[in-house]
Amino acid sequence: SDSGNVKVVVRVRKFIKREIERGARCLVKMDPASQKTTLNAPSEIDPANSRSQSRKIFEDKSFTFDKSFWSHNEADAHYAHQEDIYNSFGEEFLDHNFDGYHTCIFAYGQTGSGKSYTMMGSSEQPGLIPRTCEGLFERIESEQSSSITYNVHVSYFEVYNEHVRDLLVARTNATQYLKIRESKADGVYVQNLTDEPVKCYADVERLMRIGDINRTTASTKMNDTSSRSHAVFTIMLKQIQHDMSTDETIERCARMRLVDLAGSERAKSTEATGQRLREGGNINQSLSTLGRVIGALADPKRQRRGSSSSGKASRTRDVVPYRDSVLTWLLKDSLGGNSKTAMVACIAPSDYDETLSTLRYADQAKRIRTRATVNQDAVT
Ligand code: ADP
Ligand code: MG
Repeated sequence: SDSGNVKVVVRVRKFIKREIERGARCLVKMDPASQKTTLNAPSEIDPANSRSQSRKIFEDKSFTFDKSFWSHNEADAHYAHQEDIYNSFGEEFLDHNFDGYHTCIFAYGQTGSGKSYTMMGSSEQPGLIPRTCEGLFERIESEQSSSITYNVHVSYFEVYNEHVRDLLVARTNATQYLKIRESKADGVYVQNLTDEPVKCYADVERLMRIGDINRTTASTKMNDTSSRSHAVFTIMLKQIQHDMSTDETIERCARMRLVDLAGSERAKSTEATGQRLREGGNINQSLSTLGRVIGALADPKRQRRGSSSSGKASRTRDVVPYRDSVLTWLLKDSLGGNSKTAMVACIAPSDYDETLSTLRYADQAKRIRTRATVNQDAVT
């Protein structure tokens, strides 16, 4: 088994229209040499970062992550394109999958910070998910031989209001929420979730499109097109290898999870009311549980308890509140378990409070350790 820390990267996006219109200033600096990200205190007159709350203190804050992606200004030499994000760790994670490891990449950040752009992107600017799928089939094609068979399946679901919904099934009035189950053999899984076999990249592309159309979106004051759901895209890669000389067959299974989380902002900052507030509350429940799970996993005292080889492991399971939300229960493996995991913290360039909260969250996630094992079985 291979134990290591969650890889944490941060990415700052360019200004969007409303920020340009209000004359926003970029508060984020990144040093490509040290990977240090600095958040500068806003000026007194910046209306987007008001000091109306009493006792509010703004300070310059610095954090160091595995990588700091500067996607703010294309004119800069160290500008990070979609391709650079994939090349820096998407490709590496795909290598791990072919070695038989489970992986998970999740995007965290406030609404409008660039999570969907980073994970899915657009047809002109494809993100991590389409690039990973393309890379997967390129590799399968280049490694085609008579002794190895590849088997790829895709599923796509969302967690919305603490309910799980299949994104590969069109929504009707009779739409049923799916149940979560846990078994020794399969771990935590979504019951009756569509698990589509795919033969080529075009198959996946079709499913991504269906899923994105089915994804729940609701308009809020903050961002009309933002989604308030957590979207989980999963690829299962099975490699069946037959060794002619020994007549042995080995099956290697890897699951890649690519997660686009709902916006991390508090419901009150969107001035949402009624139904939306309720949704916001639930989303915060999932995200705040995620925060508590990360907090528990990042706590070195609990980690020591977890790594002891005596019968103490069950106590660790009790202190990490995985089961307190649908999202964390489903991502249990990916958070502190059998997986190589990365987090992309997406930040807007001129929002001090939300950016600081995201950077602190990301800073904590750095301390999480996972223990990934090669998922391989001899078939008789
Ligand atoms: P989120 O999913 O976090 O709510 P989006 O990915 O939808 O945010 O991004 C918000 C807006 O900013 C979109 O219009 C998106 O195209 C744009 N955007 C985000 N990140 C980048 C980037 N790195 N480069 C260019 N545009 C970006
Ligand atoms: Mg989004």
